[in-house]
Amino acid sequence: MTINGTSKVCGVIGCPVEHSVSPMMHNFFSEELGLDLVYAPFLVQPGKVGEAVKGAFALNIHGLNVTVPHKQAVMEHLCGIDEGALAIGAVNTLVRQADGYKGYNTDAEGILRAMLEAGMDIAGRTCILLGAGGAAKAAAYVLVREKAAKVYLLNRSLEKAQGLAAEMDRLFGTSVCQAMALDDWREIQEEHCLAVQTTSVGMSPHAGQAVIEDEAFYRKLDMAFDAIYNPMETKFLAMARAAGAKTENGLGMLLYQGVAAYELWNPEVRIPAELAARARERLIAHLEGRRLEGRR
Ligand code: NAP
Repeated sequence: MTINGTSKVCGVIGCPVEHSVSPMMHNFFSEELGLDLVYAPFLVQPGKVGEAVKGAFALNIHGLNVTVPHKQAVMEHLCGIDEGALAIGAVNTLVRQADGYKGYNTDAEGILRAMLEAGMDIAGRTCILLGAGGAAKAAAYVLVREKAAKVYLLNRSLEKAQGLAAEMDRLFGTSVCQAMALDDWREIQEEHCLAVQTTSVGMSPHAGQAVIEDEAFYRKLDMAFDAIYNPMETKFLAMARAAGAKTENGLGMLLYQGVAAYELWNPEVRIPAELAARARERLIAHLEGRRLEGRR
């Protein structure tokens, strides 16, 4: 790709940002589509997000992704926030407007597209959501909006699960959410559940742990989705698979939140399924290479 005076510049702000695979994914989209758009990582320290957004606008940056720890803090520095992002309470994509950036949340679309592609239907299902952090908010929003029959929200800090459950039921005018402490999963009577794992437990370099380690929990599941993609198969997914559940890791969520962001920055572009599939293969090869490197 040749960068020239007319190249549009996008990027990701976060801390840390060094391990982000977003630059690889977005530059691949641009190369394959022949778009004059480059994407770079920007390390932004906590507390500096306001300055970063202002600076990016002054530098004519076309769009940004926002990752940990800035997804909430960035919200007060925007000229507008999309309805879905406002409901979720987090922004991961900034789209340039005349007077600043408008914030969107493409994690929710990412998780939905990934689940649908994996054949994980939500409507009418009993769902068990593990976690109540940023990824959990996007997942809870999707599960309730897509008409899950019941959503059990389990989190280490019970009050966070209670807050999220109340917020989602209020938002959608439902009473399907029930908050619980992690250990209370035994109170769930239903079988054939869809579990969505959004805690950071099991993520590399702390792989080898699952947020619930009792095999009996996994026998309740027909389907298990993990937001983590590194490792590709977490202990949570391995235990769900061993119990006979259909499983899916977080790579599709990562891919489709990126696809949705790219399409927001380039409204004339729709990323074809075949290009998304090739991007997924590249992400897998990249993460696998990184894993092998870590072993050396
Ligand atoms: P976050 O906001 O910091 O939330 C972390 C969650 O993990 C909280 O619910 C926290 O519980 C729980 N947790 C952390 N350590 C725990 C422990 N030892 N035992 C039990 N629970 C624990 O993080 P996030 O942004 O939601 O990210 C969570 C995971 O999702 C990460 O692994 C991230 O990589 C992944 N993710 C993936 C994608 C994707 O595109 N695939 C996108 C976003 C996030 P407390 O509330 O009690 O602290």
